[in-house]
Amino acid sequence: MSMKFAKRVSDIQSSEVRELLKLTEQPDFISFAGGLPAPELFPVDEILKVNELLLKEDGEAALQYSTTEGHEPLREWIAERMNQRLQTNFDKDNILITSGSQQAIDLTGKIFLDEGDIVFCESPTYLAALNAFKAYGCQFVEIATDEDGMIMEDLEAKIQEYPQVKLIYVIPEFQNPTGLSWNLSRRQKLAELSGKYQIPVLEDNPYGELRFEGEALPSIRHFDQAGTILCTGTFSKIFCPGYRIGWLAGEKELLQKYTIMKQGTDLHSNTKAQREIAVYLQQYDIDAHITKILALYRKRRDTMLQKMKETFPKEVSYTHPEGGLFIWVTLPEAIDATQILQECLQEKVAFVSGETFYATSKKRNTFRLNFSSMPEDRIETGIEKLGQVLVKHIQN
Ligand code: PMP
Repeated sequence: MSMKFAKRVSDIQSSEVRELLKLTEQPDFISFAGGLPAPELFPVDEILKVNELLLKEDGEAALQYSTTEGHEPLREWIAERMNQRLQTNFDKDNILITSGSQQAIDLTGKIFLDEGDIVFCESPTYLAALNAFKAYGCQFVEIATDEDGMIMEDLEAKIQEYPQVKLIYVIPEFQNPTGLSWNLSRRQKLAELSGKYQIPVLEDNPYGELRFEGEALPSIRHFDQAGTILCTGTFSKIFCPGYRIGWLAGEKELLQKYTIMKQGTDLHSNTKAQREIAVYLQQYDIDAHITKILALYRKRRDTMLQKMKETFPKEVSYTHPEGGLFIWVTLPEAIDATQILQECLQEKVAFVSGETFYATSKKRNTFRLNFSSMPEDRIETGIEKLGQVLVKHIQN
């Protein structure tokens, strides 16, 4: 083909995770690659009833176009939930329903980023956010990150070095890919710096509700005095990702801009999906549902960590997340995780090598494991095979 594409198309490579997911759809594959919730916990029977109730009582409205901002009762529920769980101070007019929190990320790029603009992010960070922002032609600057989050001294130094920075993107709860969460003082400091320098922060939080242990901390937004912190949330991990319903929360004047931009993308998110979720929340106890998710994921995390302890060489280190979906593995520097992956794929075991999660530094000795979507016996088998490949590379 000799058609001329936009520059943003040539800058973007197909996502390694998406490609891997296609491969791992084969039933005999043991996949630790995706970030998939456990499908056996989707409340299918309840949804069948909700669907019938909705269509009988409100069928016409459920199938009609609706407002860009989203279904009011759902926005009310979200504002209340965020205030309770994240210590924010939102009302329904601070909430815009989006098509997954992924759309909130994309719209943030659309609103803030011009060609050549600078975005600060954690190192490593969520791959599909990098791709979404990259489509707007931005440049990334990685901020040094450790087990307590972004290092604020490095952030301050980078703000001095790049005073033109347009956006800071962070995932402070059970981060994708590391599974780690920020400590309190860094949350507070980021809010302070964001306000002082008027740099918007996107606080992306799809996993915060998936805490198996430890104390929940207030969000970064809780410390926001200047109205510069925007938050995302989603029903993907506490309900079902197939609905593609998430949200963006922030100051009302900013939400107006998002609303106008969203109209250009899809007018509004799926009306029926929004209303179905609202009916579910009214008819059923979502906390009881989340409790079931937590019990299963905790068991799977423990199974994975235990098997890793038994089979991984001692030179390999990894995170012990208190929640979320992921464990992050660091190999000795000389070992290339993509090589390990190639060998594991022969054994029909998949994970995602870490390189793609780095905006610029492209470290090669890390990888991400998902523990939520495979049953325990397959976790044990898969980790054992992975352990054997690691032993072969590291101890020989
Ligand atoms: N942010 C992060 C950090 C994610 O890992 C994901 C997907 N797993 C998303 C946002 C998007 O999720 P969704 O669009 O399903 O809400």
